[in-house]
Amino acid sequence: MAINPVKVPVREQEAKVRATNFEEVCYGYNAEEAMEEAKRCLNCKNPKCVQGCPVSISIPEFIQEVKAGEFEKAAKVIAKSSSLPAVCGRVCPQETQCEGVCVVGIKGDPVSIGKLERFVADWSRENNIDLTGDIEKNGIKVGIVGSGPAGLACAGDLAKLGYDVTVFEAFHESGGVLTYGIPEFRLPKEKVVNYEIDSIRKLGVKIENNVIVGRTITIDEMIEEEGFKAVFIGSGAGLPSFMGIPGENANGVLSANEFLTRVNLMKAYIDDYDTPIRVGKHVAVVGGGNVAMDAARTALRLGADTHIVYRRSEEELPARVEEVHHAKEEGIIFDLLTNPKEIHVDENGNVCGLTCVKMELGEPDDSGRRRPVEVPGSEFRIDVDMVIMSLGTKPNPLIASTTPGLDVDKRRCIVADEDGLTSLEGIYAGGDTVTGAATVISAMGAGRVAAAAMHKYLKEKYL
Ligand SMILES: Cc1cc2nc3c(=O)[nH]c(=O)nc-3n(C[C@H](O)[C@H](O)[C@H](O)COP(=O)(O)OP(=O)(O)OC[C@H]3O[C@@H](n4cnc5c(N)ncnc54)[C@H](O)[C@@H]3O)c2cc1C
Ligand code: SF4
Repeated sequence: MAINPVKVPVREQEAKVRATNFEEVCYGYNAEEAMEEAKRCLNCKNPKCVQGCPVSISIPEFIQEVKAGEFEKAAKVIAKSSSLPAVCGRVCPQETQCEGVCVVGIKGDPVSIGKLERFVADWSRENNIDLTGDIEKNGIKVGIVGSGPAGLACAGDLAKLGYDVTVFEAFHESGGVLTYGIPEFRLPKEKVVNYEIDSIRKLGVKIENNVIVGRTITIDEMIEEEGFKAVFIGSGAGLPSFMGIPGENANGVLSANEFLTRVNLMKAYIDDYDTPIRVGKHVAVVGGGNVAMDAARTALRLGADTHIVYRRSEEELPARVEEVHHAKEEGIIFDLLTNPKEIHVDENGNVCGLTCVKMELGEPDDSGRRRPVEVPGSEFRIDVDMVIMSLGTKPNPLIASTTPGLDVDKRRCIVADEDGLTSLEGIYAGGDTVTGAATVISAMGAGRVAAAAMHKYLKEKYL
């Protein structure tokens, strides 16, 4: 049978309507659409898509189950490799991973693997499918620092292997960036994130919130006083960078992290919450990654007319293609090949404008991307009353500075080998705290790899 070169389109909220609300943009596939899309998979003998997946989900196997209408079986296949499928189906950069290498994509659209994964996970949740399985406990205590995707994936795998797992989380809510960073309109918190975290709790994982490791308890104390036999550090990279340009200390200049945390974690977008948030009428978001898109689309939904200011061209935008497309549809203005030089401040200390300079692309730099260089004399001013900086993040130095002997590199990232082992015996690390800001699935992959290595270490020492 000939394969349809065009994927089954996914239904979405209309751009004009969604630009004014925080409800989810994409509705996902229904059962008929999912089964139709699943027919496009060739069930390859040597599936490239699996090689492109950082947690090696058995993709053709689950897609064949979807094709047959066996959705519970499909959910069980995915559950073997991923504890956060409804999250990953929504936010993974599939276009550069599994879908980027799908052979159907050579002559047409690749199979919509992400949308199929999302469908299976949502169906499984809506039908209360229990994917826990039987666990034989071994009573050995393992501690996890941070409840983001790295920590949760590591915790889930270790709990399935029988360990007594406790996650320590600094915030009052769990989920890391899934909860405080990625907005509700892309990743619903109650329906999706909290449900998947609860599924990890059902494996026996305990999550202790409001515990700052390095302040409330140190890693040494976890090992020496609390009886943890190994620790995984998945503390992310939550410390924002700034440009160092004049005016950056003005009222109305925020990091994207602070802005999104106020809105997502502290629910500033809901009238009933008293979290203060002042959103300008004209907002510039500096940067071009997923975080910048999220900040811009959030500001837009809070009533601002919003610009993305990015120093390279559209081709180099690091954000997911789908996010850029959605941002444009919603009316975000893209000032590309543009770099801020100075933030203007009025007599009350508030932002009142942004001087930018036009850029052009020169020779490739260390990252392989063409280096942006200023066009002399091309300065111009944008009238904005708020600037959100989204220039990347670094790990917070707290854990490294309170854990003697824990090596970090010059970017303050924890140094870990391919198994996630740090410079200290029994202490593992993974996710953004090791790699710097990356992706949900790479953090989960690192958590899973470390869980396997920790199991090997603990088995040899204690079992
Ligand atoms: C706004 C935004 C949008 C993004 N969009 C996407 C996307 O669409 N697709 C994608 O794949 N990736 C996206 N990312 C990146 C992705 O979310 C991260 O790469 C991923 O969450 C990293 O996981 P992690 O577990 O390493 O860290 P995090 O998710 O940062 O979790 C770390 C956790 O550790 C906690 N913690 C830190 N220090 C301590 C301490 N001392 N004690 C106790 N707890 C501590 C933190 O509070 C946090 O909960 C986005 C990131 C942001 C900020
Ligand atoms: S590469 Fe594409 S067609 Fe082949 S198994 Fe994977 S999803 Fe199916």
